[in-house]
Amino acid sequence: MSAPEVLVVDDDRLTRLLAREALEGAGLRVREAGDGQEALENAQETAPDLVLLDLNMPHVDGFEALSRLRSSASLLHVPVLVLTARDDPDSVQRAYDLGATDFLAKPIHFQLLPHRVRYVLRAQEAITALRESGRRLERSQRMARVADWELDIRTGRLRFSRLFGEIFGQELDPSPGPNSLLVRVHPDDRARVEFELGLLRTEQKPFSEDHRLLGRDGEVIEVHHEAKLVGRSQISGTVQDISARKAAERRVGQLAFTDALTGLPNRAFLAEHLSYALARAERSGRQVALLCLDLDRFKRINDTLGHHAGDELLQAAAARLRACVRRSDAVVRPTSLEGARSGGPSVSRFGGEEFLVVLPDVEDPREPALLAERIVAALLEPYVVSGREVVSAPSLGIALSEPGMDSSALLSQADAAMYEAKGRGGGGFCFHSQEMTERVRQRLLLENSLRRGLAEDQVGCVFQPCVDLATGAVRSVEALARWTQPGHGTRMPAEFIPVAEEAGLIVPLGERVLAEACRAAARWAEAGFADVVVSVNVSARQLQADGFHAQVLGALANAGLAPDRLELELTESVLLLPEPALALQRLRAEGVRVALDDFGTGFSSLRYLKDLPADAVKIDQSFVAGLPGDGASVAIASAVIQLMSQLGLDVVAEGVETEAQHRFLRDQGCDSVQGYLVARPMPVEQLLVWLSERPSPA
Ligand code: C2E
Ligand code: MG
Ligand code: MG
Repeated sequence: MSAPEVLVVDDDRLTRLLAREALEGAGLRVREAGDGQEALENAQETAPDLVLLDLNMPHVDGFEALSRLRSSASLLHVPVLVLTARDDPDSVQRAYDLGATDFLAKPIHFQLLPHRVRYVLRAQEAITALRESGRRLERSQRMARVADWELDIRTGRLRFSRLFGEIFGQELDPSPGPNSLLVRVHPDDRARVEFELGLLRTEQKPFSEDHRLLGRDGEVIEVHHEAKLVGRSQISGTVQDISARKAAERRVGQLAFTDALTGLPNRAFLAEHLSYALARAERSGRQVALLCLDLDRFKRINDTLGHHAGDELLQAAAARLRACVRRSDAVVRPTSLEGARSGGPSVSRFGGEEFLVVLPDVEDPREPALLAERIVAALLEPYVVSGREVVSAPSLGIALSEPGMDSSALLSQADAAMYEAKGRGGGGFCFHSQEMTERVRQRLLLENSLRRGLAEDQVGCVFQPCVDLATGAVRSVEALARWTQPGHGTRMPAEFIPVAEEAGLIVPLGERVLAEACRAAARWAEAGFADVVVSVNVSARQLQADGFHAQVLGALANAGLAPDRLELELTESVLLLPEPALALQRLRAEGVRVALDDFGTGFSSLRYLKDLPADAVKIDQSFVAGLPGDGASVAIASAVIQLMSQLGLDVVAEGVETEAQHRFLRDQGCDSVQGYLVARPMPVEQLLVWLSERPSPA
């Protein structure tokens, strides 16, 4: 680094010469100018590190030169040491006003001059560094949107930093009173801020608050505000604009507490609201009612009409629910946590097709009952989804809190009551009782043991033949699932098929049955009954699962069975599928037969019969049971037989138990019968004996 350069400005040559000698002798570099004009030109060319300026010069004097120096941006901060006559304090004052850094009285003590110059240069360095750090601070404060203020407690003088005006639109008042800060605080927050600032002064309690400020145009700015005492007489504070962060937090909060599909609060919200309501109930001695709601047949609608239709249904149900609950308490906004906190009811979606209503501050159990009644009525109205009218009856369970009860206990009680309402056929509500919890527990146990049973090969099939009415020949044999649970005997499909469907176990279960049925068919084919088809029941879920087509072909191939020796029995709900399942179409094209099971109990509409994707129909046993005495059963059975025969379908009657039914069906032209009259379902070994002992058909 080269030595600092001093510009010596004096009209007296001798002074310049002596100054040069003294300064150069101390290792400084020197430039000279004989008057103000020359000095300005010289300085503008290259800025010196310091100017030694005589005030009394002809032409452009020192004052003039100084003021022009200071008006040039590049020379604004160059230190200027002015030379004055000893007895001229007015000139010194004037020079300071114009921006002089320091003064030196004439006559000059040249030996001391370099020390004085060095001193001013060092001071200047410190000032420059300070100015730089101030600038850096301001830059980072601007980025962080922080401004600061200082209050002198003794004088009440409040000073705002420059950024205050820039960030918060705060007018800069040269001597504002201590209140000019509070005026800008949002009216709703003012009392709190004033109170806390008061504590800072009286108890030295550090102040740290989030609150709102009003901007220049009255807009609301959210800030984080900190202040503390500095020494005895000063308070210093920083205010940061956190509007953006707060907005992001709110958005995240909303997302975290809202179910995206229905816009209702979600499970997380419910957990929060429920424990809050329980805590309040504990204090007030009142109760919290929890209503747990499930939409009956929702899974069926979802499976058959598609997820989109399911979504539409959930949204419509959510809107109705919201309206019901809102009517019960007009002030509450159930979608906000604050709303729920204020003590009103809330609706949330718990997942799937399950909704929960929290009704706090219950004094009389009739309150939740009335609400439940209203909800049931509203949700029983048909919906139109994907252009179709559907009904999905609600089942509601109600649980009332007891002192000391926690959220999860209340939830499981409401859930148990909901299952009870569902079990009673849906479209109603039910209060919780102790036996219900027990039943739900049993159901869970059942689900777990079925899972284990499948893994341990406890699920197998029995077989029931179906015979041709005209010839007596065995047309087919139906495989019926049985679960042999150790210590429990044999469980029937009605007990475990619905559990399997709900627990997602129907696909592995179906696969097991299919494989066993095909193996059994291969055995009777080997025994000489190759014409006898094997019928296997398939639920809509299996049909829609990926890999069903491959599963069927695999079972056939493993058993060495031709596709036309297999008949899949499906219920009519399959007809509701938006497009007849692709897997089914492919399988039919490959020769696999399809029968419609339980015909007459489902959604059958004449409209679908025309292009029924089936080879056979099985008239449900409930119609057969009424034959031949019950007029309505007679009418239905004979109409179905006639219509289906004319459409070219094979007609089978199920559940034939009496000779009278048998005769009637034969006379009506039914093709085949299945039922206890012919044979009960039996294990495959027994079936093989049964087949071989049967007299050959006529
Ligand atoms: P389904 O397919 O309609 O089967 C006929 C049911 O009627 C069988 O009951 C059978 O044992 C019973 N049955 C047969 N003849 C008579 C009779 O003369 N009188 C009376 N009262 N009943 C008779 P099961 O075995 O309890 O099966 C019930 C239902 O469970 C079946 O109805 C079928 O829908 C379903 N299921 C059975 N096995 C499976 C399976 O492997 N997969 C699926 N998805 N469902 C199955
Ligand atoms: Mg069947
Ligand atoms: Mg049936």
